[in-house]
Amino acid sequence: MPNMTESEILDKFAQIVAKSLRIDASRIAPDTHLSDLGAESLDLIEITMETETQFHIFLPDKSILETAVEVFGPGILEKNGYLTEEGKRLLLCRMPEADSAAFEGEVAVKDLQHYFLKVGTWVRMIQGLAQYTPGECEACGASMVPSMGFRMKCAKCGQEITLRSGEELNREWVREYYDREYRAQAGVTVSVTAG
Ligand SMILES: [Zn+2]
Repeated sequence: MPNMTESEILDKFAQIVAKSLRIDASRIAPDTHLSDLGAESLDLIEITMETETQFHIFLPDKSILETAVEVFGPGILEKNGYLTEEGKRLLLCRMPEADSAAFEGEVAVKDLQHYFLKVGTWVRMIQGLAQYTPGECEACGASMVPSMGFRMKCAKCGQEITLRSGEELNREWVREYYDREYRAQAGVTVSVTAG
């Protein structure tokens, strides 16, 4: 469903969260944090699975920071449990302007969990991934319906596609950022094999 608006996604996601946590959907707004609504790990697993099913997307298991640390190597984006300037720069490049306050001053990596559990962060992530889920078949234009696993199938001609995983897309974004923004500006000449 690549054409859903942010508010349609928010409504649908709020229904998922409300059902899972047994609360009223009206309590859920873009700046609400799932943890503040009482969501615990099992709830988050349920919310993740239900979101994947309903939006036909494949959410990443790791946060963008965790993936970025794997690509950059240790000590560059975070040091002693705190974000470095480089780490902040990467997250700011990825997150909307409105969220920049979350990265001011000393930012402990563990506190970012709270940020990543913000409803608006999920809505944006869902919207980003949904772009990769085709609504219509490329071959015949009929509707695509969910198939086994993370696949979509054309209801008419049977053409199948595999959904791109959030993890894979995050990694691609980080690698591109690494080459374009980090290696270029830092003048890093050592041959770091980013993959
Ligand atoms: Zn088709």
